[in-house]
Amino acid sequence: MRYLILSDPHANWEALEAVAQKAGGRYDCALCCGDLVDYGADPNAVTEWVRANCAAVIRGNHDKVSTGVEDIEWFNPAAQAAAIWTRQALTEENRAYVRDLPQGPLPVDGFQLAHGSPTDEDEYLLTADDAVTAFAYLDEPVAFVGHTHLQGGYIWNRGRVETIPRPVAHFGRRKMEIDFGRAYLINPGSVGQPRDGDPRAAFALYDSEACVVEYRRVSYDVREAQRKIRQAGLPAILADRLGVGR
Ligand code: ZN
Repeated sequence: MRYLILSDPHANWEALEAVAQKAGGRYDCALCCGDLVDYGADPNAVTEWVRANCAAVIRGNHDKVSTGVEDIEWFNPAAQAAAIWTRQALTEENRAYVRDLPQGPLPVDGFQLAHGSPTDEDEYLLTADDAVTAFAYLDEPVAFVGHTHLQGGYIWNRGRVETIPRPVAHFGRRKMEIDFGRAYLINPGSVGQPRDGDPRAAFALYDSEACVVEYRRVSYDVREAQRKIRQAGLPAILADRLGVGR
């Protein structure tokens, strides 16, 4: 089976549309690791695409806060403003869908989907040390995670944890073969708000028969996404950061 792995689209329709177009015909089944909404100006269009196209979806921390599952207080001011805006912008139907998304980890066909880590959906796996504990709780040799908005991840290799080098610097793709004697925490990167210095939308393709993960990037209409964020009255930083991918 060929999977399209998405994470953190964050209400950025232009980015999601570009990813869907780029990946079109290259996958049989789409999956999403959470944070459908918040930050961007198109929470309904993004939620509706995910509802219609993804076979398995888990919730992210922004999905919880934007639908009242979790309190808003610990978010920074820009994130608070965006979450309040998103709560009001979502239609009742989409809000209910996002609110009721299952918590990861979610098993799918011999691998798992998680938002932060397999033990905590709010945990950031930013270093190999962070990943050591996460590997101890992995139920499958491969898990896809999001949350950090950094494309890459970690490999458990005979007791040592290695960081997957930043996958795509100048090219639009990089392939990695899965060795089932190891274990993998794979971050496809963020569709809608990349933070690894590359403003292009990030995603991954996973062929479970060929045992190959492909990291991908695609350019999208950043200016249009920024224009909509400003027009919606959302904090300017949410538009600005899309231009630099930070
Ligand atoms: Zn996120």
